[in-house]
Amino acid sequence: MVTYQYRCASCGPFDLALPMGGARPEESCAQCDGTARRVYTAPSITRPGSPLTRALDAQEASGHEPQVVKSAPPAPRPAAPTDPRHALLPRP
Ligand SMILES: [Zn+2]
Repeated sequence: MVTYQYRCASCGPFDLALPMGGARPEESCAQCDGTARRVYTAPSITRPGSPLTRALDAQEASGHEPQVVKSAPPAPRPAAPTDPRHALLPRP
C-alpha cells in the first residue's frame, strides 16, 4: 500500500492508502463526499540498511522500546595535564 495525498476544495488535504499504481487523479472526499484532486508530492525513498535509515529506526524504536541499562556508565577519567608545568602548581 502506498499513501497518496488528495486535497478537497472545502475540507483540505487528506491521505489515502491505496495499492501502488491504484491512485486516480480524483477521489471522493471522505468527509463531504465532494471531489478531491490528487496532490503530487516527492516520493519518500529510503534505502533499507543505510546509516540514516538505521538511525531513524533506532530513534523511533527508542520511544516505545527503550534499551534497558544493567550497569552505570563508567566514570569519566580525569583529564591529564597537557602542560608539565601544571604539575608544579600548588594543590589545595
Ligand atoms: Zn471534502
